[in-house]
Amino acid sequence: MEPFDVIVVGAGIQGCSTAYQLAIRGQRTLLLEQFDALHTRGSSHGASRITRMAYDRHHYAEMMKEAFPMWDEIEKEYGQQIFVRTGFLFVDVPGGDGQTTVERVLKRVNIPMETLDDEEFRRRYPMLRYSKSVKGTLERFGGILLADKARQCLQELFLKHGGTVKTNERVLHVQPGAIITVHTSKATYKARSVVLTVGAWASELVKSLGIELPLQLKRISVCYWRVDRPEDWDADHFPAYVDFSGKHHMYGVPVYEYPGLYKLCWHHGPTLTSPNERDQVDDSAAVHTVSQYIREHMAGMSDTPSIIEPCIYTCTPDNDFILDKHPNHSNIVIGAGFSGHGFKLAPVVGRILAALAIGEDTQYDMKPFKITRFGKTVTSSL
Ligand SMILES: Cc1cc2nc3c(=O)[nH]c(=O)nc-3n(C[C@H](O)[C@H](O)[C@H](O)COP(=O)(O)OP(=O)(O)OC[C@H]3O[C@@H](n4cnc5c(N)ncnc54)[C@H](O)[C@@H]3O)c2cc1C
Repeated sequence: MEPFDVIVVGAGIQGCSTAYQLAIRGQRTLLLEQFDALHTRGSSHGASRITRMAYDRHHYAEMMKEAFPMWDEIEKEYGQQIFVRTGFLFVDVPGGDGQTTVERVLKRVNIPMETLDDEEFRRRYPMLRYSKSVKGTLERFGGILLADKARQCLQELFLKHGGTVKTNERVLHVQPGAIITVHTSKATYKARSVVLTVGAWASELVKSLGIELPLQLKRISVCYWRVDRPEDWDADHFPAYVDFSGKHHMYGVPVYEYPGLYKLCWHHGPTLTSPNERDQVDDSAAVHTVSQYIREHMAGMSDTPSIIEPCIYTCTPDNDFILDKHPNHSNIVIGAGFSGHGFKLAPVVGRILAALAIGEDTQYDMKPFKITRFGKTVTSSL
């Protein structure tokens, strides 16, 4: 059989986006997934993800300028809504580092924002309670991406553009070469290039290709909490928000997916040594941290979660992504370490990984995303 142009391993949001970008470029592409197409074992499942222009790093804000219109295009082609504009609110103490940096970056990329002093903040959001003085930065572009729908949409568009998807087929080994051989639990395939977007399974798979990646896995408990007045917390009345003002970095998504339930999460959780142990670790301390936060800050919200949905962050030490070619095999591309903030950027990530796989210019400075920034990562000349 004629080799594929590209095999993409992993059908999370980054693999689906990469596969779609390859298919629209006319590349004969195979997308391989170890579980079902819309499984809930990785990092891309769930109803919602926050999207925003407000970033503390200039390179991501620049990428978001491209990601927003790309999501619009994808939504248009799909014909169903996947983005809900709610605005995005960044909360910090006045003069806080996070806020100062975000505002500087937003100015640099020319994105309008509204600054709310303590008085205005309290007037507008009486359900958020702070014993100290706070400041808000409101950015109108932000909102929520309907995550499960977005993943399904990219898979369907990939198929529509001629792609091939194989699910419940685990990649066991990738054999480098001018033509790469991919051995799975069911078959063997060949391709000119391979893109590995295997999320929390990345360390495991790239190790067999002689690379040690310093990735840390965290179990995140996505909790939904009942609110007394859902109409105050819905997507028409309350923005997606992140709170940087205290020792805990919390984020909230307006009432949308479950009637009467507000999604409020902590950006941390217990460390995992393997994605397969996700459901064996105790997350009670993480849930307790959010309950405590609710008692201190949220008016009219239950401090007992109604729903808990586990998910995994795969974090690099600097929280920047890995988007690079294998140092010894230029036709093996790795996209990993999306560090709890990669969903919104998936269209751009997919475009970059597709470009790397087919030898096109990515049009970005790729320095922040290099594998070699971690020092010695290549452990063998495999
Ligand atoms: C709770 C939570 C909240 C988040 N909130 C936000 C947010 O608000 N905004 C935002 O932008 N981002 C957010 N993120 C981050 C974002 O969701 C992730 O960065 C993104 O989903 C990562 O996608 P991925 O494709 O790399 O990983 P995954 O979705 O895990 O996909 C990897 C895929 O590879 C498959 N795979 C692995 N090994 C193999 C193999 N050997 N063979 C075949 N298939 C294999 C897996 O089964 C999986 O389907 C959040 C993440 C979590 C967990």
